[in-house]
Amino acid sequence: MSVESNAQTAKLIPLKSPCFEQMAALIETFPEHPFETLVLTTADLERFSCSQCGVCCALPWRIHLSQRYYERWYTHFHNDPSGRFQRPFTKLEETTANNFADMRRQDNSNRCIFLEPDNRCYIHANYGEEALPDVCRRYPRVALRHDNRYGSDYLLGSCQTAPSLLTGDCQVYYYFEPQPRHERSLPLHLPEKYYAGELGKAQNYLWVALMLDVLQLQVNTPLQRYASLCYSLEYFCLQDELSALSPQHLQWLYREQMRRSSELSLAAAPIAEQKQALEWFFQLLEPSFLPLLDHARKIYHGQSPWPSLDAAERESLNAFLEQFLIRKLMAMPYKNPFYESISFSQKYFLLSLHLLMIQMMAHYYRSRTQQPLNLKHLSQAVNLVEGRYSQRRDWVEQQGITELNSEDCLGLMKIALSLNLGLAQ
Ligand code: SF4
Repeated sequence: MSVESNAQTAKLIPLKSPCFEQMAALIETFPEHPFETLVLTTADLERFSCSQCGVCCALPWRIHLSQRYYERWYTHFHNDPSGRFQRPFTKLEETTANNFADMRRQDNSNRCIFLEPDNRCYIHANYGEEALPDVCRRYPRVALRHDNRYGSDYLLGSCQTAPSLLTGDCQVYYYFEPQPRHERSLPLHLPEKYYAGELGKAQNYLWVALMLDVLQLQVNTPLQRYASLCYSLEYFCLQDELSALSPQHLQWLYREQMRRSSELSLAAAPIAEQKQALEWFFQLLEPSFLPLLDHARKIYHGQSPWPSLDAAERESLNAFLEQFLIRKLMAMPYKNPFYESISFSQKYFLLSLHLLMIQMMAHYYRSRTQQPLNLKHLSQAVNLVEGRYSQRRDWVEQQGITELNSEDCLGLMKIALSLNLGLAQ
């Protein structure tokens, strides 16, 4: 899987700090780019190379196929002399050209029917990369595009390799991508309220730049800086219509948010508050993760010491989470591809739950290996959260997140983020 993304062929320009000011200047140039989308990205897409581990081919998610792929390959694989790939694809009840069928799984398993016992892909090995379905060729690269209203390229953390690239370079880049010709006939001035609860085009970019500047402040921990965004989120929640906010509102909000985030000086939350977050962690986990549950329960009941990291571990954790959050926040303005119905504040609450889970899972891997917290522990935790939870609509619904109003989301977000292993306890 080495398909080049647009970011790999485009000229990447650094979005320099303060991002907000540069973004405001870029927005002024939009009339010069009527048929181009401004895309934000990071350097890990260029550094990514698929290890062909096969793990993503055995996760419980759909491997969807286009009608073109179905028609090109169904009969071919069905008639394979080995007889191993009969009925290889299952046609969907409601079909579109791009979403026409699902890849069949091996019996009683999530393993793709083409995944060999040694985890190699039969199609890739015998017919080459070009014969793979689009989703397999692109994964874990995501190119979020919303007409030309917002664009971001990033890697999904459910891939075994992607989280290990979350080190070092915090730089965000941008490039202008030509819009596909068939989209150019759309009116240049799309309705501002494209879908409920979202910002307009210029505001999307300004909001991301605001978040990036907050996240890259040299004060406190990334989790505290993320929590400080609640100030802006509360402001948004008071608006009847987000799309009515002007860039000038965002300018004012930026100054206010930066002032408040810079003044932050937060010590660790009381253990009682952190215990509440830890209790959620049990409820969020699937019961099958018994060792992980046991680990957290022992801490909760005082049978194991409260998690505490040394200074070097805290530094690694904070550097990693800053990188992780940068990618997540760059994807925030777009409606989530895995659960479209989620609201603005629900998205931010959900991310705070993921941060809670990543920390506790990484802490579990650290205890299991009896080694100081390292990149491998953190990568494993991100893999688990992204592969088993963050890309599943049913899980979000089961947790009742889609039922929460904005006020509840922001209150609960603060509790979830109170468990912060990046701080000395
Ligand atoms: S077709 Fe190949 S790459 Fe795609 S999911 Fe199946 S085994 Fe994996």
